[in-house]
Amino acid sequence: MNNFQLSENFNLREFQCKCGCETVKASSELVAKLQQLRDTVGKPLVITSGYRCPEHNKKVGGVSDSYHTKGMAADVACPTGYTVGEFAKLCQDIGFTGVGAYPDKFFVHVDVRPGNPVRFQ
Ligand SMILES: [Zn+2]
Ligand SMILES: [Zn+2]
Repeated sequence: MNNFQLSENFNLREFQCKCGCETVKASSELVAKLQQLRDTVGKPLVITSGYRCPEHNKKVGGVSDSYHTKGMAADVACPTGYTVGEFAKLCQDIGFTGVGAYPDKFFVHVDVRPGNPVRFQ
């Protein structure tokens, strides 16, 4: 299920909810920017959390209106060769409008929220 190639390096499956429900949403803007990020990094990127159904979002402690529940956010594992801070900066440069760095968990949250860019972590 959800085996559908969205861009050169991303498949819809990679964005599906991790609770097992297999529900998925992925905004085309999010995918386009992730592909741009992937091309810049030049190696595979691992999405640790893409779409989250409302139940799963609650379980993992996400805010109720999280962009993960709209298919507009992804948590991306920090690729080798980058610190989490460097990778977050690159995500800002690519043009993600929401960026949060989580050095303790070694990932960066990115989203394509409307409005001015925010770096919230
Ligand atoms: Zn789910
Ligand atoms: Zn996130």
